[in-house]
Amino acid sequence: RSVAELTDDVPAAHRVPERYAGTSEPVPGHFENTPDTDPSVADNRRWVREALARVPRSALGAATIDAARVDSAAELDSVLGRAAAAADSWHARTGAERGAVLHRIGQAIEARRAELIEVMAAETGKTADQADPEVSEAADFAHYYGELAAELDQIDGARPVPVRLTLVTPPWNFPVAIPAGSLLAALAAGSAVAIKPAGPAERCGAVLADIVRSVLPDPDLLTLVQVEEEKLGRDLITHALVDRVILTGAYETAELFRSFRPDLPLLAETSGKNAVVVTPSADLDLAVKDVVASAFGHAGQKCSAASLVVLVGSVARSERFRTQLLDAVSSLAVGYPADPRTQMGPVIEPAAGKLLDGLTKLGPGESWLLEPQRLDDSGRLWSPGIRVGVRRGSDFHRTEYFGPILGVLTAATLDEAIDLVNEVDYGLTSGLHSLDAAEVRTWLDRVQAGNLYVNRGITGAIVRRQPFGGWKRSAVGPGTKAGGPNYLVGLTGWEPAVATG
Ligand code: GLU
Repeated sequence: RSVAELTDDVPAAHRVPERYAGTSEPVPGHFENTPDTDPSVADNRRWVREALARVPRSALGAATIDAARVDSAAELDSVLGRAAAAADSWHARTGAERGAVLHRIGQAIEARRAELIEVMAAETGKTADQADPEVSEAADFAHYYGELAAELDQIDGARPVPVRLTLVTPPWNFPVAIPAGSLLAALAAGSAVAIKPAGPAERCGAVLADIVRSVLPDPDLLTLVQVEEEKLGRDLITHALVDRVILTGAYETAELFRSFRPDLPLLAETSGKNAVVVTPSADLDLAVKDVVASAFGHAGQKCSAASLVVLVGSVARSERFRTQLLDAVSSLAVGYPADPRTQMGPVIEPAAGKLLDGLTKLGPGESWLLEPQRLDDSGRLWSPGIRVGVRRGSDFHRTEYFGPILGVLTAATLDEAIDLVNEVDYGLTSGLHSLDAAEVRTWLDRVQAGNLYVNRGITGAIVRRQPFGGWKRSAVGPGTKAGGPNYLVGLTGWEPAVATG
């Protein structure tokens, strides 16, 4: 079907004006990143506002997608069986043919941008400025993996090892871009897919699946499965028809999956405890801006988020950085995404357990530069927090807290700062603010993380430009990076020499 026809399927209320929908035809062999919505265009502000106006003001939460609910092992056999059966003819196509389908999916994702922003805001509390780039990223994955699928035809011996069924278990924090990236890579590599959306973001998963299935030659190639985790989660992971799992989530979840099935072919992007180092040669204004965006975008609920800032030498001794940081963070407008003034939204589930501790309890030697406040009865709306005096080796130094809390550490030298950064078990993203070339070199040589950013925020990796993935406990499996040139090869077989990372 043509792009125009795909766009016609979009309900009128969700339609983005055609000239802003970005539904131009991709040029084979020429990948370009999908532009985000330009808010300086009045028409764009209007449709984004309209999409947000449909979002309930405060009540977040997932719609239950009954159609996908699987209640018994027999039902699981049947839905997975249908998907696996669809894989054979899909896999028999050339990579270029599959790539062409992927490009159409990318266009269909863009055509439904407004609806995707709306469901992300409704289920996960994402503000429009966070949700919009996620749609672009999802479309990017489709176009980029579409290109890579065509390239697979050219590589001797890289003909995909038949993998009939890939299980995708995405997180709720990027409920469109991450499942899109995983399932589109699997489809591009010639596999059918079963996706189990994260509990809090079922509708996001369902809308995405609907978009992809509307383009696939056989909709059975993608099946949405919702299981009660206690009862059937293990059956799903260990099911004989599941050839491979792509997981994005906590490191402990990857360990749990492996405990269910030790030989499980698993490709997992896991936790992070990410730091930004600021040296005396930094542009401090830029550093403050990037730290704030990286620490508090989507209320800090990103694996890539800045959880620590390490101030070096005179930056640590003077009050200037801390004062500017405090001013910037305390002026963030906290609220729900339906209010267009909101800059930082809620946390996905009422703060409890570790997150609640992070928002309310200090470790030895720590104090609040800005103490988080609970802003309503839901337990979801918190103002951002900054703790200073975080000690080397302390709980806050080493533990991932998935929320709007930033810890400040100090170091006498850049080398000491890098030691602090490397002393955590994870290695996902890392940032340096410095205008000194020698410092940049030292940091790049020594720092242990998958995605390194200099004089830029540390979230929002761009497909192809910044392939995304980590070291240490931030990755499990072959270590190939999402949105990078090796990702599909990493999915096509487990024995051949696959470049990692
Ligand atoms: N790829 C996202 C980014 O660069 C992070 C994904 C995650 O949180 O898992 O910000």
